[in-house]
Amino acid sequence: MAVPKRKISKSRRDLRRSHHALKSSAYEECPSCGELKRPHHVCAACGTYNGREVLEAEEVA
Ligand SMILES: [Zn+2]
Repeated sequence: MAVPKRKISKSRRDLRRSHHALKSSAYEECPSCGELKRPHHVCAACGTYNGREVLEAEEVA
Protein backbone atom coordinates (compact mmCIF):
# COMPACT_ATOMS: atom_id res chain seq x y z
CA MET A 1 0.00 0.00 0.00
CA ALA A 2 1.23 3.46 -0.89
CA VAL A 3 2.13 5.59 2.08
CA PRO A 4 2.62 9.36 1.79
CA LYS A 5 6.18 10.48 2.50
CA ARG A 6 5.08 13.60 4.39
CA LYS A 7 1.83 14.41 6.03
CA ILE A 8 -0.07 17.27 4.47
CA SER A 9 -0.97 19.66 7.26
CA LYS A 10 -4.59 20.52 7.90
CA SER A 11 -3.83 24.01 6.63
CA ARG A 12 -2.34 22.78 3.34
CA ARG A 13 -5.17 20.29 2.88
CA ASP A 14 -7.86 22.87 3.55
CA LEU A 15 -6.17 25.44 1.35
CA ARG A 16 -6.23 22.91 -1.48
CA ARG A 17 -9.92 22.27 -0.90
CA SER A 18 -10.76 25.97 -0.79
CA HIS A 19 -11.53 25.79 -4.52
CA HIS A 20 -13.75 22.72 -4.32
CA ALA A 21 -17.08 24.32 -3.48
CA LEU A 22 -19.78 24.08 -6.15
CA LYS A 23 -22.06 27.02 -6.72
CA SER A 24 -25.64 26.28 -7.60
CA SER A 25 -26.84 28.42 -10.44
CA ALA A 26 -30.39 29.77 -10.35
CA TYR A 27 -30.80 29.54 -14.13
CA GLU A 28 -29.91 27.09 -16.85
CA GLU A 29 -30.42 27.03 -20.60
CA CYS A 30 -33.51 25.23 -21.89
CA PRO A 31 -32.28 22.25 -23.95
CA SER A 32 -35.02 22.66 -26.57
CA CYS A 33 -35.19 26.43 -27.17
CA GLY A 34 -32.10 27.81 -25.43
CA GLU A 35 -33.93 30.30 -23.27
CA LEU A 36 -32.90 30.71 -19.65
CA LYS A 37 -35.17 28.85 -17.26
CA ARG A 38 -35.22 27.77 -13.62
CA PRO A 39 -33.93 24.25 -13.08
CA HIS A 40 -36.69 21.63 -12.54
CA HIS A 41 -39.29 24.02 -13.93
CA VAL A 42 -41.26 23.89 -17.16
CA CYS A 43 -39.71 26.24 -19.69
CA ALA A 44 -41.79 29.42 -19.89
CA ALA A 45 -40.80 30.07 -23.49
CA CYS A 46 -41.55 26.74 -25.18
CA GLY A 47 -43.45 24.81 -22.49
CA THR A 48 -41.31 21.68 -22.51
CA TYR A 49 -39.91 19.72 -19.61
CA ASN A 50 -37.36 16.93 -19.62
CA GLY A 51 -36.80 17.04 -23.35
CA ARG A 52 -39.97 15.93 -25.12
CA GLU A 53 -42.80 16.42 -22.64
CA VAL A 54 -45.00 19.33 -23.74
CA LEU A 55 -47.00 20.38 -20.71
CA GLU A 56 -48.35 23.72 -21.87
CA ALA A 57 -48.32 25.14 -25.38
CA GLU A 58 -47.84 28.87 -25.46
CA GLU A 59 -48.45 30.20 -28.93
CA VAL A 60 -46.93 33.66 -28.66
CA ALA A 61 -45.53 35.04 -31.91
ZN1 LIG B 1 -37.65 26.20 -23.81
